[in-house]
Order: sequence, then C-alpha cells, then structure tokens
Amino acid sequence: MTPSPAPEALCLPDALAQEFPGIESLSISYLQSTPGDGYPGTSVSWDPSRGDRLECSNSACLKGGVAIAALLSPLVATAQAKAVRKKPCTGQERLTNGSFQPCANQFMIVVELRYTAS
Ligand SMILES: [Zn+2]
Repeated sequence: MTPSPAPEALCLPDALAQEFPGIESLSISYLQSTPGDGYPGTSVSWDPSRGDRLECSNSACLKGGVAIAALLSPLVATAQAKAVRKKPCTGQERLTNGSFQPCANQFMIVVELRYTAS
C-alpha cells in the first residue's frame, strides 16, 4: 500500500474519506418518494458539505435519511462504478398523537464512484 496522491476534486467528509480511502470521487443524486406520490420532482445532488447522510424531506421525521456509508459499503466491496439503489428512510415519524412510526419515505439513489488507481 502506497499513500494515494491527493485527488483534485475530493470533497468527501473526513469520516467517509477515512472509511473509504479507495474512493477518488463520488457523486450521488437521489429522488425521494412520499407514500402514494411516486417519485415527484427532479433529482437532487448530494452536497458533501451537508454531512454523511441523505436528508429526508419529511419534516416530521426524526433521525431520518440514508447513511451514505451504509450505501457505499457493498458497492466499494465489489468495486462497482455505478449503482442505482432504493432505500427506505431509516427515521421515525412523529404522529400528531405523540407516538412514532417508521418514516415511509423511500429514496431512489444513483451513485457514481471513481476509485483511486491501485
Ligand atoms: Zn424520513
């Protein structure tokens, strides 16, 4: 293992860069669906400065979204350059009566990866 050269466009949050040192660059775009509406709107690009999760659009959702590390692990393990994944939101939605239920939002995520040359 030699230290990889610093790529120009690397803007992963430190935690992801440390967990996945073999990733040179990463782009993620995603759509969200709320129950019954399909996947409306246009896809959103992940902004690395917003942290290591894709944010859930449900304002009643707590700790929601999709952890990027969990999304990347199986892709990096098999060196996939592009993948489309559907993931449920992992958050809990607060109901008006104060109880919680799993958030029903779904994410349709397109991941494109480039790996450092080995
Ligand atoms: Zn959610």
